[in-house]
Amino acid sequence: MNYDVLIIGAGPGGIFSAYELIKRSPDLKVGVLEAGYPLEKRKCPIDGKKIKTCINCKTCSIMSGFGGAGAFSDGKYNITNDFGGTLHEYIGKSTSIELMKYVDEINMLYGGEGTRLYSTAGSQFKKKCVQHGLHLLDASVRHLGTDINYVVLENLYAYLKDKVDFYFDTPVQTVRIIDGGYAAVCDACEYTCKKCIISVGRSGSKWMERVCGELDIPVSSNRVDIGVRVELPCEVFSHLTDELYESKIVYRTSKYGDKVRTFCMNPKGAVVNENTNGIITVNGHSYEDPAKQTENTNFALLVAKHFSEPFRDSNGYGESIARLSNMLGGGVIMQRFGDLIRGQRSTPSRIEESFMTPTLNATPGDLSLVLPKRILDGIIDMIYALDKIAPGTANDDTLLYGVEVKFYNMEVAVNNDLQTKYDGLYVIGDGSGITHSLSHASASGIYVARQITQ
Ligand SMILES: Cc1cc2nc3c(=O)[nH]c(=O)nc-3n(C[C@H](O)[C@H](O)[C@H](O)COP(=O)(O)OP(=O)(O)OC[C@H]3O[C@@H](n4cnc5c(N)ncnc54)[C@H](O)[C@@H]3O)c2cc1C
Repeated sequence: MNYDVLIIGAGPGGIFSAYELIKRSPDLKVGVLEAGYPLEKRKCPIDGKKIKTCINCKTCSIMSGFGGAGAFSDGKYNITNDFGGTLHEYIGKSTSIELMKYVDEINMLYGGEGTRLYSTAGSQFKKKCVQHGLHLLDASVRHLGTDINYVVLENLYAYLKDKVDFYFDTPVQTVRIIDGGYAAVCDACEYTCKKCIISVGRSGSKWMERVCGELDIPVSSNRVDIGVRVELPCEVFSHLTDELYESKIVYRTSKYGDKVRTFCMNPKGAVVNENTNGIITVNGHSYEDPAKQTENTNFALLVAKHFSEPFRDSNGYGESIARLSNMLGGGVIMQRFGDLIRGQRSTPSRIEESFMTPTLNATPGDLSLVLPKRILDGIIDMIYALDKIAPGTANDDTLLYGVEVKFYNMEVAVNNDLQTKYDGLYVIGDGSGITHSLSHASASGIYVARQITQ
């Protein structure tokens, strides 16, 4: 065998598996196969001038490479079992929290020291939310910020690079079962190992589904979250973001009883494009460094869509809606809340006239031509509810970018060790469908590394 353990994917799941394997068993031969580039070579070509929209690079530098989808993220590590994944259902609630705290300690050791840990414990906003039909979820959140998150990744790579073999620009085509282990089949060669950890994240969702089909590993899925990214002047939410940084608020719509939630709040942040399998959707991030901050805050409002039999392709449904916005707007569409309510499209001049400057160069348009009525009604309902705890949310100039889609990977059948039906073949992180966040993905990496080295 080439390796004791091969890890496929160098996102947080893969990185923290490698870290813990080496820490607990320094003599283990560990290899990491990554489709994308090393951190310093990851560069999205969109510069806002020559290249304004996504050109569908062979490997997306936002989603792939050392650090995975999290590399240029806001670096918000939420320490909670309430959202971010269902890892606790496999490994237990206390272990899950303990591992997320351990990940936080590592992040502090590798450059995150001095960043703030926010908490909802004892917050006065819980009461205020409940009074208006809103529910504030419990969490502690470490905000590294895009800049410090990058520094932590640089430091982790510097620590790991002489102890682990990294292969970049090396997409694994498939995984084969061989005598005594596994072979990761790449374009030019194969690498063999005794144990294999698959951590391919969201960008590897289709790959994961195919490989599970080839290896006859059961998968299941029935959920996709669809919505918009809201951008408004940072003052509107500053009383919440100053105390909590990120508030995860859930609202049940009066008309349909659907749940709408806030997601990924970025005070003084920027709205960005996200490319998932060639479809352009929207996301957001913010910097810890005040010099890089903007005057706007952004967050997503998402409606969860669960499907029942016979429909099974929930991601396909989300993709179709995102494609529609890409078709109409050539990418992401933006619309002022006031225009949406008045039933008119936003135009470049209407955006120009508003009191807020958008942080993403998106196409002004009409989101009601893209989002299903039920979803749009829920979002509008929630914006009015949020206006009661953060007056100004429902202002005319509040910008909505669409669409934001949270694709959930197929949930791969694994046992409580996160091991498939094959001994020594583990699936972790967002690629497993079990985690959807930095902290849960990282914790799942630590967990399997401990299973392997115990
Ligand atoms: C813009 C943005 C902002 C975000 N902000 C936050 C945030 O603030 N907080 C939060 O909790 N979460 C955030 N997220 C989500 C978070 O980044 C993910 O939950 C997390 O990165 C998942 O980690 P992972 O290791 O499971 O997968 P990923 O980070 O997706 O890493 C998977 C890696 O596997 C590689 N790979 C895929 N297929 C193959 C293959 N066949 N062969 C070899 N390599 C392969 C990919 O190139 C990738 O590098 C954000 C995501 C984005 C895109």
